[in-house]
Amino acid sequence: MTTKSNPSAPRAQSNEQTDREPWTVRSVLQWTTDFFEKHDLESARLDAEVLLAHVLEQNRLSLYLHYEDKVPAASLQVYRGLIRRRVNREPIAYITGVREFYSIPLAVDPSVLIPRPETEHLVEYVVEHGQDHADSADKGPLKILEIGTGSGNLCIALAENLAGARIVSLDISAAALSVAMKNRRGHPGCSERIHLLQGDLLGALHPERARFHLIVSNPPYVAAESWDDLSPEVRDYEPRGALDGGRLGTEILERILKDGADYLLPEGALVLEIGEDQAETLQAVAQETGRYRRSWVLEDYAGKPRVLVAVV
Ligand code: GLN
Repeated sequence: MTTKSNPSAPRAQSNEQTDREPWTVRSVLQWTTDFFEKHDLESARLDAEVLLAHVLEQNRLSLYLHYEDKVPAASLQVYRGLIRRRVNREPIAYITGVREFYSIPLAVDPSVLIPRPETEHLVEYVVEHGQDHADSADKGPLKILEIGTGSGNLCIALAENLAGARIVSLDISAAALSVAMKNRRGHPGCSERIHLLQGDLLGALHPERARFHLIVSNPPYVAAESWDDLSPEVRDYEPRGALDGGRLGTEILERILKDGADYLLPEGALVLEIGEDQAETLQAVAQETGRYRRSWVLEDYAGKPRVLVAVV
């Protein structure tokens, strides 16, 4: 466990004091960057900027436009509390309560996984693929099922970028669904096209009544043996239920592969985010089910296999 730290400065002293210069945006950022570096935080400067911008209710750019401005004592006091949370390894997104995904700002709290940039690959693929569907008008609206909605990042990014798509999003966690609901409300254009439902994987739906062109998911896929390798930010703060994929990490993905085919329309596809060392196992599972004609893997910018596509 990380040592609890008690930053002694920048203290919330009066800016009128004479024994030292008043705290300015510049000096606060400098002090905090040094402090975070001493605590081995990787993006010390960025974290300092994001937290100060949050407290001052500005964006990061405007910090630089007000670089020599004094930071009010009341803001310093709030800021010190946030610094303490960050050195205790709380993720920035939980401290500020927001994270951007696919250029969409989303509310997050510790009941949901913080959306990751790697999941944007999945969105890119589905948006491209879904566009083809929309272009062939005779097929009717594109129907997408999402398993494990979390903050709603996937379903909202897809609804925003695929006009007319209808999405059913499932999550087992009521707390996560209320975050997703809040985020959905912020996107009136797509809110009536996303249906949020509580359920354990596919259990809430009947395959005879619900069939989809696409099933998408970023399910839990961290293997038990990798648990200790996770950063404290992830391991100690993010919801275990959104990460823990059982002994090998592939337990939930395997269940989705086995049951998912029943919920797909002819020529429908599963599009799943996977761990970087799981492609081979999961393609073998897809084949064993005898339900998929073909499966392939999409690589991320670093060349790692991160998305599995399986077509019925
Ligand atoms: N990529 C995430 C991590 O390792 C795991 C996400 C998941 O299990 N769906 O931090």
